[in-house]
Amino acid sequence: MPGVTLLGDAAHLSPPNGEGANLAMYDGAELGTAIAAHPDDAEAAFVQYERALFLRSAEAAAEAARDFELCFGGDAPRSLIRLLSGHEQTR
Ligand SMILES: Cc1cc2nc3c(=O)[nH]c(=O)nc-3n(C[C@H](O)[C@H](O)[C@H](O)COP(=O)(O)OP(=O)(O)OC[C@H]3O[C@@H](n4cnc5c(N)ncnc54)[C@H](O)[C@@H]3O)c2cc1C
Repeated sequence: MPGVTLLGDAAHLSPPNGEGANLAMYDGAELGTAIAAHPDDAEAAFVQYERALFLRSAEAAAEAARDFELCFGGDAPRSLIRLLSGHEQTR
């Protein structure tokens, strides 16, 4: 939709993994940078911002989903214990 963009949880709600506030603030900084780079063209700023946003947030959401499965999935809490004891890699 022209003239509109999203940031923070509105753009990429995901399972909680302690990154949501960081990502929301990072999005704000990136959006501000894009607007400053295109002061007379909001759409160009949004395109620049959203291209990076989608890649960044997809990666973070996949990581959050893996963490959520470790903590609350069918094999929890053994999966989390294996991770904390160094017997499992998350990535
Ligand atoms: C239990 C819990 C624990 C968490 N722990 C962590 C953590 O340890 N570390 C971390 O980084 N993240 C954590 N998060 C995630 C983090 O809180 C969010 O990712 C972050 O707050 C998202 O920021 P935001 O600005 O996008 O949205 P929000 O912080 O949700 O802000 C949106 C604001 O918009 C307001 N609003 C909604 N609708 C309207 C409307 N129609 N008109 C006007 N205002 C409106 C809301 O009242 C709210 O103030 C946690 C979340 C939860 C629920």
